[in-house]
Amino acid sequence: MKKLLKNKDIVLTGEYLGVVEEYLPDKDSTYVKEGAIYATKSGLISLDMDKRKINIETHQDKDRKIVKIGDIILGSILFVRKYSVGLNFYTINRKVHFNSYFFGNIHVSQISNKYVEQITDAFQVTDIIRAKVIEEKENEYDLTTTGKNLGVIHADCSVCGTPLDKMGYSRLQCSMCGNKENRKLAGDYRDISYHLRF
Ligand SMILES: [Zn+2]
Repeated sequence: MKKLLKNKDIVLTGEYLGVVEEYLPDKDSTYVKEGAIYATKSGLISLDMDKRKINIETHQDKDRKIVKIGDIILGSILFVRKYSVGLNFYTINRKVHFNSYFFGNIHVSQISNKYVEQITDAFQVTDIIRAKVIEEKENEYDLTTTGKNLGVIHADCSVCGTPLDKMGYSRLQCSMCGNKENRKLAGDYRDISYHLRF
């Protein structure tokens, strides 16, 4: 029994795709056993009819290609380490990418043009930041927040959760409990955060 594959057919890991006489198998997404080709990942079939090449693409592969060096992203801080922060991002160049998230890192040297002694003086977990992609790695991206327009655009008080008000260049204060915190702020801190709440 022979099933004819079409572009965008959904296949599952381990599924039989055809034989080597029919297709040129892709090394990254298929494997060949005794002349038969099987899928090594789940995804969508991509056929190049001229070269008879078959490979499997995932939505994630496509999403990854969306992100390019120089892109501006919005995301939230997931964790803060001694020399870097990690964040998820979902908005790239003002387009919201639902059901997809990307992982980024910001090294302490890429936070600000000014010296940042402690990373916690610039970012805290749950902050929403705007950053620029400077390097692409396997599954994640290196980001920078140097420059006036980049940095924290929304931050909640770490004591009581109230959105913090801007008091100075890098200073925030909580109107509820009086707590003061530092951040690397974007020039338009909180001006756009309204649009991010839904
Ligand atoms: Zn507070």
